[in-house]
Amino acid sequence: MAVLDEKLLAILACPVCKAPLRLDEQGLVCTRTLVRYPVEEGIPILLADKAVPPHPEAEKGTFSFTAPPPAPGSQES
Ligand SMILES: [Zn+2]
Repeated sequence: MAVLDEKLLAILACPVCKAPLRLDEQGLVCTRTLVRYPVEEGIPILLADKAVPPHPEAEKGTFSFTAPPPAPGSQES
């Protein structure tokens, strides 16, 4: 069973959809999409590209922090 401080767990949220996380034997599970993030040496690895399976909302890019490039043809040069 993964060991993680309960107070830390209480403030953690899925980095993609911000849903609460719950701890299971193999890591932290997004309670909204049920993808799992690994916990290594007691440190949760809350990265979208570490989620197993890949977080569906991360794939869609809904929660991307980078601005999308301007649509081609939207600006005449
Ligand atoms: Zn999530």
